[in-house]
Amino acid sequence: MATAVVEPRIRGFICTTAHPAGCASNVNAQIQVARTARQNGAGPLRVLVIGASTGYGLAARIAAGAMYGAGTVGVFFERESSGTRCGTPGFYNTAAYHRYATENGLVSANVNGDAYSHEIKRKTVELVASRLGQVDLVVYSLASPKRTDPDTGETYQSVLSPIGETYVGKTIDLSREVINEVTVEPASDEGIRGTVGVMGGDDLRRWSEALLDAGLLADGARIVPFSYIGPALTWPIYRSGTIGRAKEHLEQTAKAIDGGLRSSVEGRAMVSVNKAVITQASAAIPVVPLYISLLYRIMRERGLHEDPIHQMVRLFNEHIGPGRTPALDGEDRIRLDDLELGGPVQREIDSVWPTITTDNFRALTDYDAYKRGFRQLFGFEVDGVAYDEPVELEAEI
Ligand code: NAD
Repeated sequence: MATAVVEPRIRGFICTTAHPAGCASNVNAQIQVARTARQNGAGPLRVLVIGASTGYGLAARIAAGAMYGAGTVGVFFERESSGTRCGTPGFYNTAAYHRYATENGLVSANVNGDAYSHEIKRKTVELVASRLGQVDLVVYSLASPKRTDPDTGETYQSVLSPIGETYVGKTIDLSREVINEVTVEPASDEGIRGTVGVMGGDDLRRWSEALLDAGLLADGARIVPFSYIGPALTWPIYRSGTIGRAKEHLEQTAKAIDGGLRSSVEGRAMVSVNKAVITQASAAIPVVPLYISLLYRIMRERGLHEDPIHQMVRLFNEHIGPGRTPALDGEDRIRLDDLELGGPVQREIDSVWPTITTDNFRALTDYDAYKRGFRQLFGFEVDGVAYDEPVELEAEI
């Protein structure tokens, strides 16, 4: 038992503390959303989520558990609490999901460690075999700045840079809350290689091989990694930049895996292209927080707003839930970014974006909601949480 009053410690796009009760409340709110979309009689579902503790992976796990009563194994890399030092948000999110699953008789097993390593793959394979037998679905939702290749020992470092040309664009300085022009120099070949080494498909391929070799993919199993494309506005820094190059590699890898899965277990591998949402990963990308602030305002006003849990409910309901046939684009991808990229939303973005300045950004965008959403990732500014009272820091996952 270790209790403390936990306060936010935020610098720019980083917060070094997390509130256990606030994180639990966020998870419970997501569970409620997923439960309203519950599917009875859909049959048992067994799901492995790689990157299961925050953002899209957490939402996928919650959707699987709360909509279908799925048994889940979650893999993530989080810091547990120690003494009076709080754990990371993903640790508390997982503890909250684990509690829900246990109370509702659902299998919930966790592996906390480096998903890129052989050791964690081995542990996961053992846990999937012992707790689930096989899996019907693998969700791959890792976001990380670096990866060490488990065979060569080489550590790849990702960079968020344009390719070929210097990028000059509008961004928000999250510490000073001013609109700036950001200049990002083009990546070196090393930077491109490093980013593809981290966020490309190499590790996805290794996971797929490990699961297939161990006979853990059930007949018809699906493997779904996540990608992002976004509007032309962010292409120089995202889709046409280093991270986009990595995503192309991930998408090509998914296609190659798809071929193998079809013949081995009559399964499928397909990328889901999701919409831009507030997560720890997206907060770190230049331009994107300002873009999301504007996007959220416009999508809310048009009744189109979706958080990760709404996207994941839609992913299951319309594409990958039991009995559903995924609707794919010409590149064999699921498109959950359809509402974001729809004509009316992007036309409004295009007309407002050039007019945004330090003086008017709060009026033109939903920046205050972005800021609150960012803090909520760490369990702060969540309604109903008694922040001035000590809270238990230890939790069971
Ligand atoms: P996130 O930062 O919220 O989650 C990342 C997850 O990866 C966490 O569970 C974390 O513990 C885990 N992780 C990181 N490094 C790990 C490691 N070495 N070993 C084990 N686990 C590790 O990120 P997110 O924004 O939800 O992104 C998840 C995926 O969704 C990414 O592929 C991202 O590109 C994609 N995506 C994100 C957005 C967006 O706007 N956030 C949009 C479309 C697609």
